[in-house]
Amino acid sequence: MFTLISLPYAPEALEPVISRETIGYHHGKHLQTYVDNLNKLIAGTGFESMPLEEIVRKAQGGIFNNAGQILNHNLYFTQFMPMKSEEMALDGLEITKAIARDFGSLETFMAEFEQKGVTLFGSGWVWLSADKDGKLVITQEPNAGNPLTKGLKPLLTMDVWEHAYYIDYRNRRARASA
Ligand code: MN
Repeated sequence: MFTLISLPYAPEALEPVISRETIGYHHGKHLQTYVDNLNKLIAGTGFESMPLEEIVRKAQGGIFNNAGQILNHNLYFTQFMPMKSEEMALDGLEITKAIARDFGSLETFMAEFEQKGVTLFGSGWVWLSADKDGKLVITQEPNAGNPLTKGLKPLLTMDVWEHAYYIDYRNRRARASA
């Protein structure tokens, strides 16, 4: 039995970038629905006792889609933190150093990550992952896809489903990615 993760911040903490209303729908309604659907689909099956990652590796169809969306959103919602100040230092972080090593600079990485979101056709996710040698790569996944099925270790993600940005940005996906 899976349960909805709790947010590690108040629902309005990410404003003005992501509104309280978006968080309310996205976490409270969309993610809750994936959790409810998965629990119904796996009841009485071998998937019932598996961790989420294992279900995503092994399942197909509706079970894969709902498990993938839960795994993806659990990372998505826990990767953010409220911006306390403009000078909140990214410089000293290990991830920033690795990004500079593999993409040249944080700005280059951000431009490429945003471009991958804008050019993803339909619903899906853009990922920053580490490969088996620790090198960082950006990948696009359609629908409920997660790069762990390709042997990558997911680190950061951008939800490119319209439900992630439509209330705040309507059809302006590029604006929502910036
Ligand atoms: Mn979503």
